[in-house]
Amino acid sequence: MINKNHCLTLDEQDPLAPLRQQFALPEGVIYLDGNSLGARPLASLERARQVIEQEWGDGLIRSWNSAGWRDLPLRLGDRLAPLIGAGAGEVVITDTTSINLFKVLSAALQVQAERAPQRRVIVSESSNFPTDLYIVEGLTQLLQRGYSLRLVDSPEQIPAAIDQDTAVVLLTHVNYKTGYMHDMQAVTGLIHEAGALSIWDLAHSAGAVPVALTQSGADYAIGCTYKYLNGGPGSQAFAWVAPTLCDLVTQPLSGWFGHARQFDMATHYEPSSGIARYLCGTQPITSLAMVECGLEIFEQTDMQSLRRKSLALTDLFIQLVEQRCAGHDLKLVTPRDHAKRGSHVSFEHPEGYAVIQALIARGVIGDYREPRIMRFGFTPLYTRFSEVWDAVQILGEILDQKTWAQAQFQVRHSVT
Ligand SMILES: *Cc1c(COP(=O)(O)O)cnc(C)c1O
Repeated sequence: MINKNHCLTLDEQDPLAPLRQQFALPEGVIYLDGNSLGARPLASLERARQVIEQEWGDGLIRSWNSAGWRDLPLRLGDRLAPLIGAGAGEVVITDTTSINLFKVLSAALQVQAERAPQRRVIVSESSNFPTDLYIVEGLTQLLQRGYSLRLVDSPEQIPAAIDQDTAVVLLTHVNYKTGYMHDMQAVTGLIHEAGALSIWDLAHSAGAVPVALTQSGADYAIGCTYKYLNGGPGSQAFAWVAPTLCDLVTQPLSGWFGHARQFDMATHYEPSSGIARYLCGTQPITSLAMVECGLEIFEQTDMQSLRRKSLALTDLFIQLVEQRCAGHDLKLVTPRDHAKRGSHVSFEHPEGYAVIQALIARGVIGDYREPRIMRFGFTPLYTRFSEVWDAVQILGEILDQKTWAQAQFQVRHSVT
């Protein structure tokens, strides 16, 4: 049996514990939702003040040059690159994950249209994050080239679904609901053997688990900065394209920021070389600048240390829930196998939505995903082992006392 003292000892021995001091976390809250919206780096307030007062206020239009606004998407991309196993000059931070998916999927389909035009199938998972599937729908309708989406219902079905008709395989590396993590290198190998191209969505991977894009032979990747990377609500997303593929085609959102010579004001589009061609238009600089504050904290540690703590946190949570909440109709949907687990843990419960609302009312913030899934994110930069203990005790009380049955916890909010 694990007790609270054991968890407190784990906190004392945790080499990453001091990093928490660099985050603003409210008193009385156990935040297990850093996988949806990361906590605020303390430095962001001063950075925002600097951007607004000095760069915008005093610098005005001059700040595009003097404060380096023009190159911010690429400079931040270089700082993010080591976290996802990419090289310098290969990552850009811009737009949203949905928009970046539109760009890289368009590019991948163009590459295949030239290499193997008979390949018209895009393979993905039915449990993929909805926006990924919606973007596939929208783009393929626009292209009118007879593309179809082939969805599999479980990761085991992926190999059999990839064949001579497959153009692109679009997978989210760590599933947003279940926390299942694909073996990126092995799956990319399968995709390439079949002659297809891979797109990896790293929304729940970047800053959560070690990712080795170059080493895995991946083709395209996209992901968020507002989740584990703590960039702030709606902060821009990233895009990465393997250097061998990047200059083969032009992505279709060919805005002036992606032009080889933006201020020539030429009548025709000519793409920049490299990942800069994935830029489109003017970025919200106040938001983009915040991304730097999250990345600065990651630069004080490394993904291996974070992964070690993440697995210790998720192991502890699973063990404690099974110890404290036994007999309560909870079903673990996250793999126990470390190699297949990201940094969040999900349990199914018939009243999952109401249980999460009752937890939030007690200061334990997790989130709910249809159907019946209660999801808890563990962010090794700031989650404490003793918080895992406290969260599970509160969950146990809510289940024992059926607090979730109260009317106020049954009300559906627009964001769950
Ligand atoms: C969170 C998430 C997104 C979000 O896309 P936005 O365009 O930033 O809203 C996309 N894909 C996955 C897998 C996600 O988990």
